[in-house]
Amino acid sequence: MNVPGSMTTLRARVREALGKAPVRRNFRAAMDGIRAKRAAALPDATDFAQRRARAAAIRARALARLPELLERLEQRLEANGIQVHWAEDATQANAIVLDLLHRAGARSVIKGKSMVSEETGLNDALGEAGVAVVESDLGEYIVQLAGEPPSHIVAPAIHKNRHEVAALFQAHHPQREATEDIEGLTAEARQVLRRRFAQADAGISGVNFLVAETGTLVLVENEGNGRLSTSAPPLHIAITGIEKVIERLDELPPLLDLLTRSATGQPITTYVNFISGPRRADELDGPREVHLVLLDNGRARIHADPLFADTLRCIRCGSCINHCPVYVQVGGHAYGSVYPGPIGALLEPQRLGLEAGGSLTSACTLCGACGDVCPVAIPLPGLINQLRAEGVEPRPDSPLPDAGRLRHRGEALLWRLWATIYAHPHRYRWLARLLTALRRLAPRRLGAWTRWREAPRPAARDLHRPGARSGVLR
Ligand code: SF4
Repeated sequence: MNVPGSMTTLRARVREALGKAPVRRNFRAAMDGIRAKRAAALPDATDFAQRRARAAAIRARALARLPELLERLEQRLEANGIQVHWAEDATQANAIVLDLLHRAGARSVIKGKSMVSEETGLNDALGEAGVAVVESDLGEYIVQLAGEPPSHIVAPAIHKNRHEVAALFQAHHPQREATEDIEGLTAEARQVLRRRFAQADAGISGVNFLVAETGTLVLVENEGNGRLSTSAPPLHIAITGIEKVIERLDELPPLLDLLTRSATGQPITTYVNFISGPRRADELDGPREVHLVLLDNGRARIHADPLFADTLRCIRCGSCINHCPVYVQVGGHAYGSVYPGPIGALLEPQRLGLEAGGSLTSACTLCGACGDVCPVAIPLPGLINQLRAEGVEPRPDSPLPDAGRLRHRGEALLWRLWATIYAHPHRYRWLARLLTALRRLAPRRLGAWTRWREAPRPAARDLHRPGARSGVLR
C-alpha cells in the first residue's frame, strides 16, 4: 500500500522527481494540453459557477443522507440481482473479492480502471493468491507493464511519452513489430487485450456513481474496456467507496457533464455504462453474477467530521491535480500516495492518519487554483490549511488519526516567541532595531530556502524612524 510517510521521505521523492527532466517535460506538456481542453469545455466563468453550484448541491444532499441512501441503494441493487458486500477496510475488501473469485473458480481477471482497488492494493492481493490480473484501461495497462503505480487518477500513465511506451511494449510483446506510432501502439494494446477479455474468468471494475433510486452502477470511460470488463466475463465484481451514492437518476446528468468536462474537456465520454443487474434469461450476453463491494476505509469517519466531510463530495475528475503547480512540477509518484495532488493532500492524511499522510499537506502552495476549478466546489486550499493546523494544534475532539502528532517543539517555541514580539509594538520595534544593527551577521545560507534564492537581509535603515519622523507611523 502506498503511504507518503514523513517530510524527509517526501522531500527525497520530490528531489528525485525534480531530477528527472524527461518526466517533467512529459508532465508539463500533458498538463498544458489537459488544462487547455478543460478551459475550452468550460469557457464561461458564470456558467461554470452555476453548474458547479448545482453539482455541489447534489453531492452535498446525498452526503447529508448517506446512511439512508446506502440502505436504499442496497435494497434496489439486491432487487436487481446485484449482490452487495460491505468492507470496512482494504484487507476486508480484498478478502471479499478473493472469496468471490474462489467460489466462482476464477483464476484470471480483466480489470477496468479503479482507484479504489489501488487504495486496497487489490492487484497485489490477487497476485499473491495466484489470480492473474490484467489491467484493460490503456494507461493502467502501461503502468502495470512498467511495474509502477498510476501517477494520476484519470490518466495513470501521463508521465510516460510514446518512446517509453514503445520500449515497454517491445519488451512485453516481443512477437509484435516494433512501432513508436501512437495509433500503432494503441492497436497493439487492443489486440493483446482483446484476447484477455475473451479468456478472463471475471471482470473487476470501479464505479463513478451509484444511483440509489434505481440500483444502478454508473461507469464512464473512453476506451470501451469498461464495458467489456463488465460484460464479457461471466462474473463482474465492482468495487467503490460508500460516498459515491446519489439519490436520483435525474441528478446524474449535471454530475456527468461536469465530471467529463473537468477531467478531459469532453462534453461526454465515449461510453457511459449503466449496470442494473446480471444477464437476464432472455439476454444473450452479460455476466451471470454481478457483485458490488462497498468500501468504507475511513470514509464513515470523514463523513462524521463536520470540518472535513466536504472532502467526500469529490467526483475524482482530477482537475485539481491538473491545475496544481506542485503536481505539474513533481508528478504523481513523488507524493507516494494513491491519490496525488490537492485531493491527495486532503484525503490521504484523513484516510491514513496525519503521521503517515500529513506530510502531503506541505506539498501545497495554497495558491487556490484547485479550489477555483473543483466542479463540486470543495474548498480544497482552506481544508488543506485546516489539516495542517490539525497536525500541530488540533481541535480538542478531533477525530483525525494522529491529530497533533506533527507538532515540532522547537518550531512551536519559535512561533510562540514570534507571537509575543509581534503582538507588542514596542517589542517589535526593538527587534527591528536590533536586527538592523546586526544586519552584517545575518546568515547568507538558510538551508533549502537559499538553494534557489538569496537570503533576505535586514535593511540598513528600519522604516520606522523615517515613518515616525514624518508622522506616518507612531
Ligand atoms: S477535489 Fe474536486 S477537482 Fe479534485 S478530483 Fe475531486 S472533484 Fe475533481
